[in-house]
Amino acid sequence: MRRKLAAGNWKMNGTSATLTELSGLISAHDTPDVDILICPPATLLAQASALAKSHPLTTGGQDCHTAAGAHTGDISAAMLVDAGATAVILGHSERRVDHEESNDLIREKARAAHAVGLTTVICMGESLAQREAANTLDIIAAQLAMSLPDDCTGENLVLAYEPIWAIGTGLVPTLDQIGEVHDFIRARLERRFGPGVGRSVRLLYGGSVKPDNAAEIFAVSNVDGALVGGASLKQSDFSPIITALEKSA
Ligand code: PEP
Repeated sequence: MRRKLAAGNWKMNGTSATLTELSGLISAHDTPDVDILICPPATLLAQASALAKSHPLTTGGQDCHTAAGAHTGDISAAMLVDAGATAVILGHSERRVDHEESNDLIREKARAAHAVGLTTVICMGESLAQREAANTLDIIAAQLAMSLPDDCTGENLVLAYEPIWAIGTGLVPTLDQIGEVHDFIRARLERRFGPGVGRSVRLLYGGSVKPDNAAEIFAVSNVDGALVGGASLKQSDFSPIITALEKSA
């Protein structure tokens, strides 16, 4: 059985004052029936990890470098671990676009993250033009083939299907469209890594998940949770999403 996961990506939002939202989340979900992961900006990671210490909620980074040392402005995977992270988001579409990150680079970052014991939440998804040209499954197949290293397991890998056109827009694919992509990803994972690993990797949907659409999305086949941007910033929005996931478990 895959344990469900509600993951929040705070992106470049939040100062120390925002940590009251995290404290609220921690007290509202002291014995959750699902895993909860919050990925704050790097400046808040150590503080957030300290707040979540001795609570089941875990913290993660939003990116890491492939190496360490002379790379001004970057963060190594080992530094994320040192700041208390158990996971790192890799290949978010905003990094693929803003920083021109390639599938090859994301695969090398994942290798570096796995080497220090981090779980990687690797994101993939199509643009609107690719969806309209009926290329979604080809794009996902290529991203899967190239962004995943060979050392993936059900413990160190979580995949997030995030259609780029659904992120932060309020647009959401139909439930059939979400199910089609998640079933496709599951089949590809089983083919590449074998049924044991392929069936144990958790698949998250991401893109405009809100309290009012979470339950129907969580009922879709092979949706094991969500990667949530905007609605993870406030406890009052994220809590009902977590509760909807618990009810679906
Ligand atoms: C995201 O950026 O990963 C995301 C899913 O954002 P939002 O929930 O705001 O669409």
